[in-house]
This record gives sequence, structure tokens and C-alpha cells, in this order.
Amino acid sequence: EALYRIEGWGQPYFSINAAGHVTVSPKGDHGGSLDLFELVQALKQRNVGLPLLIRFSDILEDRIERLNACFAKAIARYNYSGVYRGVFPVKCNQQRHLIEDLVRFGKPHQFGLEAGSKPELMIALALLDTPGALLICNGYKDKEYIETAMLAQKLGQTPIIVLEQIEEVDLVIKVSQQLGIKPIVGVRAKLSTQGMGRWGASSGDRAKFGLTIPEIINVIDQFRDANLLDSFQLLHFHVGSQISAINVIKDAIQEASRIYVELGLLGANMKYLDVGGGLAVDYDGSQTNFYASKNYNMQNYANDIVAELQDACAENNLSVPTLISESGRAIASHQSVLIFDILSVSEVNSIPPELPEEGDSQLISYLWETCQLINQENYQELYHDAAQFKEEAISRFNLGILSIRERAKAEQLYWACCQKVLDITRKQEYVPDELEDLEKIMASIYYINLSVFQSAPDCWAINQLFPIMPIHRLDEEPNRRAILADLTCDSDGKIDSFIDLRDVKSILELHSLQAGQPYYLGMFLNGAYQEIMGNLHNLFGDTNAVHIQLTPKGYKIKHIVKGDTMDEVLVYVQYDTEDMIERIRQRCERALEEKQISLTESQKLLQTYEKSLSKYTYLCS
Ligand code: PLP
Repeated sequence: EALYRIEGWGQPYFSINAAGHVTVSPKGDHGGSLDLFELVQALKQRNVGLPLLIRFSDILEDRIERLNACFAKAIARYNYSGVYRGVFPVKCNQQRHLIEDLVRFGKPHQFGLEAGSKPELMIALALLDTPGALLICNGYKDKEYIETAMLAQKLGQTPIIVLEQIEEVDLVIKVSQQLGIKPIVGVRAKLSTQGMGRWGASSGDRAKFGLTIPEIINVIDQFRDANLLDSFQLLHFHVGSQISAINVIKDAIQEASRIYVELGLLGANMKYLDVGGGLAVDYDGSQTNFYASKNYNMQNYANDIVAELQDACAENNLSVPTLISESGRAIASHQSVLIFDILSVSEVNSIPPELPEEGDSQLISYLWETCQLINQENYQELYHDAAQFKEEAISRFNLGILSIRERAKAEQLYWACCQKVLDITRKQEYVPDELEDLEKIMASIYYINLSVFQSAPDCWAINQLFPIMPIHRLDEEPNRRAILADLTCDSDGKIDSFIDLRDVKSILELHSLQAGQPYYLGMFLNGAYQEIMGNLHNLFGDTNAVHIQLTPKGYKIKHIVKGDTMDEVLVYVQYDTEDMIERIRQRCERALEEKQISLTESQKLLQTYEKSLSKYTYLCS
């Protein structure tokens, strides 16, 4: 367990059972659990192939419950007289089944949605049917966006238009006058509190979105002039996603509370404070301010927000706002697990070295002797000797004085030397600088049936760390150290950063493959942002996805969403598969005429081609 740190990041949903399989407990300690490996086997028997995304809707429900419970507890603790009305940022995961579940689970808490674009607004308007839930309208807006949002008020919805660009102010006032509707409007402030890490640029004076303090005062004046000041009701800020350190949150809420109070004193009709996203996920389980972790929990987060606002409003005799957070990552990450299989393994030293023979270059004997002599005392020196002999062997090969067989022997011996050195350094606490990379160089390459670009784009784009581990054989000691290489023909299509205690390690401990037996890995906590940002590099499409819900008798498969087939991805790039089949048919006819192919062969080719087009883009296992 310690190896993969599951007891840290997995809490309370993922653990390891006596069979050595990962167990999923969607309700934490309060409900049933299921064996993930057995679930994958059962899905395979239903013809749902890997790679496969499994969504646990009970986990989604649990996340919503937890967030609301934390705010409820904080509100009770500080005698806060306002309420919490969270919203889910649709951009975090727009999948219909997920948003439908989310709205349903959020109903008891009047949990709403946040839209960051016109298409997301369309989703939110169509799916959000919870009376009293908020619909926060963020992102760039044109007249159509603003009209739609305002008119939605007439359907009983509570859209709040958040001004993010100064150009939107005039537009909102004009549309309001034209439609004769008094909207609820807010502003997104550019806080001077700087976020941190990868998403730190979301705040500060040069942030992409938001209004500066002088601009906000200008908005107040314009709204007053237009007799709309009572529409100005909300202050929003967002200092970035995955805020690892609680002090950044404290600073931001302190600054925002001050702005909130001052806006009220300036005459705005302040009723809502929207603290944006940022509530982090502990991807490595270290509970630190490392970028893949966080040094606070959900309760600390809620407490700090509630307490700060309570104080700021009390000092100025203002009533406290309805609190809104736009937590995406913290709601959606845990509910999905990506399962993929290993296709094959490549080892640098897979072929054992041979004894030098008569006629072999002297270099081969030197390398052989070096390899025999390596020990605890001399390994550093002999490692350099071996490297030098290998370099020389390659130079001689290039000059034409070493045969290809001799070069092969030299390389095998060099890898054997490296392995011996590595075995020694692994037992030591201190590893000399020049040998630090040896582990990575000697790592096995496990080829995964997956596209990193499609299923974990943040691994490639921003070196995001996700917990990755086998979902079975966890009662066996892993005996391989590996990196993962995906199916794409792209050297960036790999994963070679893995979670470690408050750090990153370059290899993942895995088991050697067993003939005829599958080996499944799971990538966890990847339910936020990955699906929609994934791309079609090499035309690997969406993976299969299933929605699982626990029942008193076990579980039920609520939905199976089949992944893209080849003809579907080809349509994205404007191919007509009928036309492609016809082209191949005509080529076969021509080849038949020229007697280059037999009729049986041409039929087999055509049938395989046609059948393949309707199949999954990934390899069949
Ligand atoms: N709200 C806004 C305006 C955002 O830009 C984001 C994402 O960066 C979020 C909410 C969601 O943030 P998180 O996923 O960190 O909760």
C-alpha cells in the first residue's frame, strides 16, 4: 500500500483488499464497496473493452454531500446568518450523464451550475431545474449570451451575470433596458493576491479575466446612472485552480471580503460572494503544499471563508452574503477511474550477455572483465570504465573496424554492468549524482493501450501527476521499475513522472507480465478536465465509459457510453468512409486485373478493412 501511497490519496474511496485488488467504497466508510478488478472482468465479459473510464456516481454524490456538509458546519460554528449555495463549473466535466447526476444529487442543497461559455450556458439552462439554485454566467459574453441569461429569469431560474470584461457593462445595461428585465449582476475582481503553481496566472493585475478596482468603481457609477444599482449584487474572484497552500486562500478571502464590504458601502446591493474554484485535490496524498497536494482539508477551507466574511461584515454592520463556491476539481476528480492494460514490455537488458569468443575485439573482453569485477567498493569507477568502453565500441563500429555482432555484445555487456551498478546503488542511501538517472535509463518500458493525449492530456501538457497503480496482484511484491509509453507515435506520449512522498519519482514499481494473463493499471482522480481537453492525436478517440452505481445487492451498470469507432473519428477529419471503402475496392479490382492479388486475398482485405472501420480505435485485447 505504501508503495503507491493509496492510503493517502485514496481516502476514503480506494483501498486494497485481501485478494490484492483495489476496492472502491463510493460512500467512504458508510456504504458498500466493490472489487475494481472483478468489476473490470465483469465489464469485459459484457464486451466493454479497455481502455475504459469508470464513473462512480455514488462518489460524485458523496463529494457534493461533503462540500455542503463542510459549509453547513462552518456556518453553524461561526453563527453565520447566511447560506451556502455552491455551483459546479460545467467546464470541469460537461458529460451529460455526469451533469444530470450532479443536478439531481445537488437538489437537497440547491446546488447550481456555472457556465463559462455559450454552449455551457445552453447546457446549464436545459439541465438545471432546481428551484433556487444559482446559475453563474461567466466567460466572454455577447448580446445573445446576455439576452438568453436575462430571459431565463422568466423561467424561474436565477442567472447571475458576472462581468469579466469592461465591454460587457454597456451591453448588459442596454439589454436590460431593451428587455425591461432587471438582472442580477456581479463583477469578477482581479485580486492582487496571487495564486500559485500552474494556475497562478488566474489572478493578479495582468490576469486574463476580471476587472481592476478602478474599473469596478466605474461599473458602480454606470449602474447608478442607469438606475440599476440594485442589480449589482455579487462579487466574484478566482485565484486559480489547485491552490495547494491555505495561506493563499486566506489572503484571497481577506482581500475579497474587504472589497465586498466597500462595495456595499458604495451603495451596491451586495448579496452574494462567489469565491470561485481552487479547492485542491490531494493527488499524491502527502497533505502538503506541494503542487500535487494541499495542506488543508475541505473543512479548513469552508471555515476560513465563513469566518473571514463573518468578521468583515460584522465590523461594518453589513448583512453577510450568500456564499458561493465554484469547486470543480474537488467535486469531479474522484468519481472516475481510467483502466488500461499493458500490451507488452521492453527491457534494455533483455538479452543476457555472451562470453567473449576468439576473434572478438579486445574491447569485448575488457567489458566482460569490468562486469565481473563491479562491487560495492569500485562500482562508481567501473561504471565510468564501462561507459568509456561502450563509447569506444560505437566509434570503432562507425569506422568499420567492429562488426555488428561485436557491437551487439558490447552493448549487452554495458547494460549488464549498469544493472550491477544499479543493484548496488539501490541498497544505498546515498546515490552519486552521475548515477541518479540510471534508474530511469534502465527502467522497463510498459506499453499501455491508451493515448495520453486523449485520456490524460494534463500529464503531457503540464506534467500533472495522477496516482497510477495496478488494480490487482497487489499481494505480490512488484519486481519491475517502469515508465509507461502510450500507443501514439509521439515521444511525448509517455508517463515518466509518478507520485512520491511530496516529490515526483521517475519510475513506477510494477509486476512482470504473466503469459496469457492481463495486467491492468488504473489512473485515479482524473475526473476533472481530462475528458474534454483530450485530443485525437493519431486518431485515438474517446474511450469506452461506464456509469456504475452501488445497490444493496452489489452494483448496477447505469449507462454504457461506447467509445469512438474508427469511422466516427474519421468523420471528424472530413473522411467519407463509404468513399474510402470504394477506393480500396477499385484498387483491388485493378490489382486483380494485373494478377497482383488473388480473389480470396482481395476479399479478405476488403472485409477486414470494412470491419475495422466500425471498431474501437484502441487495440483489442
Ligand atoms: N471558476 C472559474 C472562473 C475557473 O476558471 C475555474 C477553473 O480554473 C473554476 C471555477 C474551477 O476551479 P477548480 O477546478 O479548481 O475548482
